[in-house]
Amino acid sequence: MATIGRPAARTATRTRITALDTHDIRFPTSRRLHGSDASHPDPDYSAAYVIVRTDAGDDLEGHGFCFTIGRGNEVEVAAIDALRPLLVGAELPALPAGLADVYRGLVDDGQLRWLGPEKGVTHMAVAAVMNALWDLTAKRAGKPLWKLLSDMAPEELVALTDFRYLSDALTPDDALRILRRAAPGKAGREARLRAEGYPAYLTSCGWLGYDDDRLARTSRAAVADGFTQIKLKVGASPADDIRRCRIAREAIGPDIRLALDANQRWEVGEAVERTRALARFDPYWIEEPTSPDEIIGLAAIRRAVAPVKVAAGEHTANRVIFKQLLQAGALDVLQLDACRVGGVNENLAILLLAAEFGVPVWPHAGGVGLCELVRHLAMFDYVAVSGTWRDRAVEYADHLHEHFLDPAIVTGGRYRVPTAPGFSSALRPEALQAYAYPDGEAWV
Ligand SMILES: [Mg+2]
Repeated sequence: MATIGRPAARTATRTRITALDTHDIRFPTSRRLHGSDASHPDPDYSAAYVIVRTDAGDDLEGHGFCFTIGRGNEVEVAAIDALRPLLVGAELPALPAGLADVYRGLVDDGQLRWLGPEKGVTHMAVAAVMNALWDLTAKRAGKPLWKLLSDMAPEELVALTDFRYLSDALTPDDALRILRRAAPGKAGREARLRAEGYPAYLTSCGWLGYDDDRLARTSRAAVADGFTQIKLKVGASPADDIRRCRIAREAIGPDIRLALDANQRWEVGEAVERTRALARFDPYWIEEPTSPDEIIGLAAIRRAVAPVKVAAGEHTANRVIFKQLLQAGALDVLQLDACRVGGVNENLAILLLAAEFGVPVWPHAGGVGLCELVRHLAMFDYVAVSGTWRDRAVEYADHLHEHFLDPAIVTGGRYRVPTAPGFSSALRPEALQAYAYPDGEAWV
């Protein structure tokens, strides 16, 4: 890479990274079963959190994180710490263009890459750092991230996109064609986005640990609040799934979409059977019916359960797997995640892949801070990539937003447009203290 990783003498125009501070932040959500599903019955929503500082003298910091659900967050923090020698002391290249080199240097470090490559703990650590650097970049530009990306020329975006291993499905020329096609309508869509907000759907009414009364009550409330789609966790016993689907469908009526999420619970054949058994409740999609590494089986499930759609992506390790899911015809709904893959540069590739294959993107946001981040990616996609929000929405879970400086705000079933410069990734200083694990006041 051009500069990161090589200690460089400070030049007149460049700045250096002076600190990369990490924090193990955990929220005790398991106490009330927020976030509970068939595979994760008691999550404590957590963030392996990083703050990047420079010697620019502008007081701007980059904040980023990746999301985990409790135990192991310390492993994720250690993985971020392992990136520190590549970054601290290094010259920060011209932003934003230089972030392509920084990203490539982090994912392709000649020793660290053995731990992946480009998957799991180390890749999520790259996501945390890259999210922080994009936050810093957007703050320096004085724009929210969605606007920073939307204002870039197609050529600039292509230069920032990670196309490695995608050439059999998506080339830079393909990407230029997609972005140039969207360019003429950008101003009009931006105005509409600011006026109307971006569609949202609600997940936090249907956690598996909530009792039937609460499921019915919160499902009805979701409709009253303006949501046109809710999501329900399934994958417990078949009888429980049927009972819960009946309760939710009766609560929301026939005209609101009901999505189902099995969180990887089933074998391929079992997924087909179990989804068909719930078809009478008119589900819009079945999400993660089986292993996130399953490509051929997911395509088989999709063929077998149509017209119920198949959704996946929150555990998809990287753009190469997304490419194959799309090539295999395994997805109706692509659920990218801001912290699972390597951050914005890789998500640019995933948004472009989805546009190339004509598959709608419904970002994953069940977790702490994910709503804050992915709304930027979806809004950028609407303005400058796919050019549409038809049959798409961003997941919304109504937890922990109060701890962020620039929280996600959803009213009338719509994400309001963030206007503060940055990636909305910064937790409030008091939250960084109170939820520090294990010594913060929430844990002692
Ligand atoms: Mg899910």
